[in-house]
Amino acid sequence: MISLTEAQDIVIGGCEPLITVLVGRERMTGRVVAQDVVATEFVPPFANSAVDGFAVRAVDVPSAGFELEVLGVIGAGHAPKFSIGAGQAARIMTGAPVPDGADSIVMIEDTQMINESRVRCNKAAQLGQAIRNIGEDVCAGDVVFARGSVINAAGVGVLASINAREVLSYPRLRVAMLSTGDELVVDGSQLKPGQIRESNLTMLTAMISATDCEVINLGIIDDNEAKLESILREVATRCDAIVTSGGVGMGDFDIVKIVLSRIAEMRWMQMAIKPAKPFAFGKLTSADGRVIPVFGLPGNPVSSMISYELLARPALRKMMGHTQNLIRPTVRAIVDAPLKRHRDGKIHFMRVFGSFGDDGRLHVRDTGPQGSHQLAATALANGLAIVLDGDGVAVGGEIEVMLLG
Ligand code: AMP
Ligand code: MG
Repeated sequence: MISLTEAQDIVIGGCEPLITVLVGRERMTGRVVAQDVVATEFVPPFANSAVDGFAVRAVDVPSAGFELEVLGVIGAGHAPKFSIGAGQAARIMTGAPVPDGADSIVMIEDTQMINESRVRCNKAAQLGQAIRNIGEDVCAGDVVFARGSVINAAGVGVLASINAREVLSYPRLRVAMLSTGDELVVDGSQLKPGQIRESNLTMLTAMISATDCEVINLGIIDDNEAKLESILREVATRCDAIVTSGGVGMGDFDIVKIVLSRIAEMRWMQMAIKPAKPFAFGKLTSADGRVIPVFGLPGNPVSSMISYELLARPALRKMMGHTQNLIRPTVRAIVDAPLKRHRDGKIHFMRVFGSFGDDGRLHVRDTGPQGSHQLAATALANGLAIVLDGDGVAVGGEIEVMLLG
């Protein structure tokens, strides 16, 4: 058996980021910047008003009670047709350009119209007040996103604000997913003796999508070597990674193991964790000469889920250019119900639900039966408690918890 960290080094270390491509900004949400994004424009592009009010010269309104002649109205999106001289003002709307001559905006709430063309200011004007200057947000030449940054929704907005239409990024990974097992039923048909309904293909498809990858769903493959081999060889020409579920154990019909041992360069690992002891990682060379990482997950649903989280997901993120948080972050939490285990030389990943208590700390309790076939309790969890080898953790004890999403 090897440690989880050793396995992660092998798997994550064995994957490299894909070749960079230009990506349209609308498709950049959640994706990584491969080269510094430098602004070529100023944001805002001109000095404009932060409020609805009157553009004035501060010197003309040294205290409350000064009256000014109103030259006209400037709306957002319209260039002023006049400049402000001594004793003059212009009605101005939020976002409208500050007219020449004006150096202060008095908000509407601090003014009173005397007649159609005269306004009284009920408060002194400070120089520069309520003016948003050119480039206050971004200046031309600024690095707005350094290489390695992840673009979120606000980031896509920033790209739009600087007129960056495309960004050098990494392609969206195409991940082929298949599940194996003669016992698995995927449609709604009546179960025959020995059959079960499949869950991993459906679950992992959702998990791969949540990793921001495109899924090529190959479905359930029967325990048939020739068929599995031809499917794997074919899909390798049109995907960037392959995830398989099931068939990596020591059983007679563990055909994923048999086939991948023959056609790919594989590492068959046994990790000192529970659940998810077996894991396979390797590389399959496609007919067109590309090297495709293959992640062989165990078939037990909870093991499948946890080994995807701990090994496949970080590697897929690295392939998409991520450098931060490849592995999900962990936090310290207080145990509210005993996390029981026995000493077996392994780290146990127990499914827990965490919420913040009145003490401002994260508190966790297990979500139910912890067997590797018991997916229902896993579905209720929002964290994995990392229970180190020993006798478990009693109520009130502290535990490290990996946050799931
Ligand atoms: P295997 O890794 O193929 O030996 O499978 C281990 C256990 O997980 C067996 O009890 C399988 O029936 C079950 N299993 C394998 N694949 C799936 C799946 N896609 N959905 C639900 N259970 C599965
Ligand atoms: Mg099987």
